[in-house]
Amino acid sequence: MQADVLARYHRALGNDVWFLTGVDEHGLKVYRSAQEEGIGFQEYVDRNSAEFAKLKKVLNISYDDFIRTSDRVRHWPGAQKLWRACSRDIYLKEYEGLYCVGCEAFVNKKDLIDGECPEHHSKPEVVKEKNYFFKLTKYKKEIKKLVESGELKIVPENRGNEVLNLLEDAEDFSVSRPIEKLSWGIPVPDDPTQVQYVWFDALANYITAIGYGRDEENFKKWWPADVHAIGKGILRFHAIYWPAMLLAAGLLLPKLIYIHGYVSIDGEKISKSLGNVISPEEAVKKYGVDPVRYYLLREIPSTEDGDFSYKKLEDRYNGDLANNLGNLVSRVAKLIETKLNGELNFDDKFFDSESRQKIEETAEKYKKAIDEFRLHEALTAVWDLLGYANSFIDFHKPWAKDDDPSHLLKTLTTTLGIILNAAWFIKPFLPETADKIYKTFGSNIWSSQDQKLAGKKFAVTKIEPLFPRLK
Ligand SMILES: [Zn+2]
Repeated sequence: MQADVLARYHRALGNDVWFLTGVDEHGLKVYRSAQEEGIGFQEYVDRNSAEFAKLKKVLNISYDDFIRTSDRVRHWPGAQKLWRACSRDIYLKEYEGLYCVGCEAFVNKKDLIDGECPEHHSKPEVVKEKNYFFKLTKYKKEIKKLVESGELKIVPENRGNEVLNLLEDAEDFSVSRPIEKLSWGIPVPDDPTQVQYVWFDALANYITAIGYGRDEENFKKWWPADVHAIGKGILRFHAIYWPAMLLAAGLLLPKLIYIHGYVSIDGEKISKSLGNVISPEEAVKKYGVDPVRYYLLREIPSTEDGDFSYKKLEDRYNGDLANNLGNLVSRVAKLIETKLNGELNFDDKFFDSESRQKIEETAEKYKKAIDEFRLHEALTAVWDLLGYANSFIDFHKPWAKDDDPSHLLKTLTTTLGIILNAAWFIKPFLPETADKIYKTFGSNIWSSQDQKLAGKKFAVTKIEPLFPRLK
């Protein structure tokens, strides 16, 4: 959802955007789960991948591409090419270590809590085998320099320090598994006895999807990525392993890694065993897609952990959405309908200058917040503006019978000006709501990318509540 906001925002600014997401489908977890269910590996991942892909529609996500790592045509050739490109830094080694299947990674003994992985609350398995290792230690200094200089930017900043700490302990890591232990994976080039380690293969998705190993022209067009958006639990893989692999292969690094937190439910960690899982579909069905997007993007600070509860969602729905935004829009639409026969010719001379200043200030805060990945603050700025518009209209009382015509025009022109600007601001966050607002006033300034209101005629069409009262 956060990546979707960024993609929509940059598209609206006219920037070239390619929004990629997808699923990694190899590894021991998948291998064992499929076996437990007694179904084929491909069948298992086909089913799960379809579940994730379904969220595009449910949550109105505007991604351009969805890559699957089991895709032998689009992903495998690039993953194997990347292995070859790194091969001078890959060596065979007999190894014994602790493997967490949840993490799909070897873990350090000292990072365990009571012998368990802190992320998955399970005991790692002792693994002793011969496999390939990647010479990460060779690249530690260089990665440190790139992170410290901001050439590889880590957002938020405190995660950058975490990367530097992780880097200190980082060692060469295993990049393959013997086929007799794990047959579900991408074969290691020139060694049929091994498959690629799931993370080595999965990280490659960022370049294989855009053509690495099969469409070099397209790959050059889009790489390096401006942003990788990830969850905090996979920082090490993205900020250390991945840059090292790219350096080894002589490829450019992504410019920025943006890290979001986790969502809990009613203060509890989301887990199947606790039974507190909420399906996004269920929430969207009950409240609509935009209220769910609004809640998650506003209530939870973009880079931190946050909590989901239906109670808090309903508070936001009633307060921020139905009241502050919904009522404002329907009030102004009704006043234009009753007082101006449904039409307003937008004349800048009636557009209050102090309010225009307020819009400018909001635009600055909004832009800065999004550019710095504090999406919740962008929404806060917009809702401050809506609060201002509500006070403005309450103060000027355009419904009064003795309101003089120019004062009335000033009040309605100004509040409409604020509403249409606010709609532009909220569109990346709440795309459907923004469209409904434009439609209410018979305009779509977004699609023309022309924010000038002066000289435009607005005609109120159907007035429907943006956020109907909750039952
Ligand atoms: Zn784990």
